[in-house]
Amino acid sequence: MDFELNDTQKLIQATARELARKVVRPLARDMEASEAVDTAMLRALAEAGLVGVAVQGDLGGADAGAVAYALAIEEVAKACASTAVTLAVTNMVCEVVARFGSPAQRERVCPRLCSGEWRAASFALSEPEAGSDPGSMRTTATRTPAGWVLRGAKQWVTNGAIADVFVVWARTDSSATNVHAKSTKGLSCFLIERAEVNPSEFAVGRHEDKMGLRASSTTALELNECHIPPEAVLGAVGDGFRIAMTALDGGRIGIAAQALGVGERALELGVRYARERSQFGRPIAEFQALQRMIADSRTELDAARLLTLRAAWGKQTQKGVTQESSMAKLFASEAAWRVCNRMLQIHGGYGYTREFDVERLWRDVRVAQIYEGTSEIQRWVIARSF
Ligand SMILES: Cc1cc2nc3c(=O)[nH]c(=O)nc-3n(C[C@H](O)[C@H](O)[C@H](O)COP(=O)(O)OP(=O)(O)OC[C@H]3O[C@@H](n4cnc5c(N)ncnc54)[C@H](O)[C@@H]3O)c2cc1C
Repeated sequence: MDFELNDTQKLIQATARELARKVVRPLARDMEASEAVDTAMLRALAEAGLVGVAVQGDLGGADAGAVAYALAIEEVAKACASTAVTLAVTNMVCEVVARFGSPAQRERVCPRLCSGEWRAASFALSEPEAGSDPGSMRTTATRTPAGWVLRGAKQWVTNGAIADVFVVWARTDSSATNVHAKSTKGLSCFLIERAEVNPSEFAVGRHEDKMGLRASSTTALELNECHIPPEAVLGAVGDGFRIAMTALDGGRIGIAAQALGVGERALELGVRYARERSQFGRPIAEFQALQRMIADSRTELDAARLLTLRAAWGKQTQKGVTQESSMAKLFASEAAWRVCNRMLQIHGGYGYTREFDVERLWRDVRVAQIYEGTSEIQRWVIARSF
């Protein structure tokens, strides 16, 4: 077994680490306070090759594979979890288009995302009444002589306020009686450029007031008789559910890496604080109770890294990804949450204030157990994969 990274992976990791430390981290507090992602910073990340990390070079990607992608997201998440999810969703959409798009879609969308010309992309699957169960989706797409008309509402759209391009799922089976039936059949996928649609038909709705990831845009999306051309279909009509699940297999690796990065940063801050803070005449790092927290955290994060890199390797070598990415996301998100909780405890009362970053990490990491499939859904996927 070879645990060494290759030169390309090391280069992507080093590039992401350097940018995260020098460019992203100094902005993280201000972005959280202003609840806005810095779009110039996003462009710098794209220009450094961190969008389309696993997308082929002829489409503008870095062609570095899923392992390099996971390493990049981890590094960015150490600096800012909001930026990491912004980047992760844009990468996921870029990969979906590269894999399932027509040549025209691929050539239009991927280079623009990879170069940073387009700021971000969105993945609009969830709805107010359809979260864990996308088969209960109510948004419809109706074929017309001129193309398609979308009607419905999307919820929890990451990058909703800043994305230039959206992948939107809708029900295309013609039987109206099926609309409320729970069915994963008859879902289709559409590629929509914000600049190409009428803003009253494709309206970004409420901005969610979240406990964490406050610099990541999360919005609703209203599809009010939204007219799109026939060539907006992504992949085959009726193949939407398979496309979504394939995308989420890769997306979950990104979320595992994001959680890992947040957990690593929390551990770094917790260890530093434990060495600096003294009580009872000695550094609190000398107390066995805290050493146990640190040892458990180091061990769990290493286990999370192994699972995450195994899933990424399985994806890039096509040796198995569904169960592996669910295991990685499940374990990494729950482990990182435990680590952030312990490191906040190590900070004592100061950990409960905004003065110390561990409080932000604690809030930011919680959602990794929820989005791209909750922990309960990951356990279901894992159990069904036998
Ligand atoms: C910040 C944020 C960003 C997001 N970004 C996106 C995005 O970009 N695109 C997108 O499409 N979606 C996005 N989501 C949506 C996210 O994927 C959903 O919130 C998630 O899938 C859960 O759906 P739900 O919130 O409707 O919860 P529900 O599905 O209503 O689940 C409620 C509870 O029931 C449990 N549950 C449901 N079904 C089962 C079952 N079969 N077995 C056991 N337990 C079950 C769940 O685990 C959960 O605990 C985002 C969410 C958040 C919070």
